[in-house]
Amino acid sequence: MNILIAGGGIGGLTAALCLAKRGHRVRVLEQATAIGEVGAGIQLSPNATRVLFDLGLESALAAVAFRPDATEMRHWRTGRLIAATPLGDDALQTYGFPYFHIHRGDLIAVLEAAVHAHPLVELLTSARIEKIEEARECVQAESTCGSFEADVLIGADGIRSVVRATLFGPAQPQFTGNIAWRFLIPANALPAGMIRPAATAWWGPGGHVVHYFVRRGELVNCVFVREQSGWEVESWTEPGDPEELRAVFLGWHEHVQTLTHHARRENLFKWALFDRTPMPAWGRGRITLLGDACHPTLPFMAQGAAMAIEDAAVLAQCLAVKVAVKLEVAPALQRYEELRKTRTAGIQTGSRRNAEIFHMRGIKAWVRDRAAGKAAGNRLAAVYRYDALAVGAKSQS
Ligand SMILES: Cc1cc2nc3c(=O)[nH]c(=O)nc-3n(C[C@H](O)[C@H](O)[C@H](O)COP(=O)(O)OP(=O)(O)OC[C@H]3O[C@@H](n4cnc5c(N)ncnc54)[C@H](O)[C@@H]3O)c2cc1C
Repeated sequence: MNILIAGGGIGGLTAALCLAKRGHRVRVLEQATAIGEVGAGIQLSPNATRVLFDLGLESALAAVAFRPDATEMRHWRTGRLIAATPLGDDALQTYGFPYFHIHRGDLIAVLEAAVHAHPLVELLTSARIEKIEEARECVQAESTCGSFEADVLIGADGIRSVVRATLFGPAQPQFTGNIAWRFLIPANALPAGMIRPAATAWWGPGGHVVHYFVRRGELVNCVFVREQSGWEVESWTEPGDPEELRAVFLGWHEHVQTLTHHARRENLFKWALFDRTPMPAWGRGRITLLGDACHPTLPFMAQGAAMAIEDAAVLAQCLAVKVAVKLEVAPALQRYEELRKTRTAGIQTGSRRNAEIFHMRGIKAWVRDRAAGKAAGNRLAAVYRYDALAVGAKSQS
């Protein structure tokens, strides 16, 4: 089939590779002038690396990633270890695939190189999809670089998806009441041993802080989150004010405060976090959605991109069955939705729930700390164990 993808982010590029692997011709339209990602980190859990390795990206990813030993939850002021989950070799043995920390730019560069190397994928930049029309036997899209016709259109165009708005109207995502600051620090600028080889989360009243190594351990990715209303700018490029960051996290553990002293006007970004409640439907006819376009998620389970990657694998398998192009595309897309909606809705609500858990105060926080270890470990195991390739394969039986 000829498949058109709106959006060349992590979801769109992964979908292009999964679909091309199954013999489809894919065209990706990306609105930006060049494929790229912001300077920030991303955690890739085994449920995501499983799909990326199946695309042959294992060595390219391993060359730029950092493999953490564990996730660690710490008390915001004392630094006491509240709970820990082993990763490293443990994750590899348990799930068969590694847990990676990676710079977003490095991940997108790996995906883009694979896309360029694939003869069945064409990637166009400065190509913003503006209008979509569905006919009985095809779908047409008008973009800033021309009109295109395809058998299937996939909206992988992010939280403000034009494809989603065309299908279901202009309802906006919701502000979650959380503000995040993010920045990267060269690892050698920090006191030796201060950053452990783990994804460390500091849980505090009304906020939390996450940091971890990326790019083979050369950089430390920092995300500072605070409940705050009255400011709702959602942009990856909105500058942050280091003084404001330092004031908000005053009184936190000295390691946390040391990190804030490395935030500079030129490397600090601030944005409001949005999500949506799970959508009852993702598509219509020959059109469907994927990734943040249909299930934007708070990053508090570190699973938004992983969900887009899983979507890509399942969708490609649903379209790998011998679909009679004229008649059977819509049922195949419907099957994809059915296979994915419960899983992604669980991650959306779980991420919201984590906002409450991470930010508890007083006695609630005390009770949480005593129960945290086992419960968190069990929940994460279920998330990481998911095999999108096997789930998708079921659609072929
Ligand atoms: C602070 C933070 C930390 C996070 N950490 C993690 C993590 O550790 N692990 C994890 O798995 N997830 C994480 N996430 C979530 C993750 O970043 C997103 O879920 C993921 O990037 C979604 O990918 P996507 O391809 O669906 O959408 P996007 O990345 O938004 O890509 C959409 C693309 O579509 C393009 N586009 C938009 N409109 C059009 C149009 N009309 N025509 C053509 N192109 C268009 C955009 O330019 C963009 O390139 C985090 C998110 C945040 C905010």
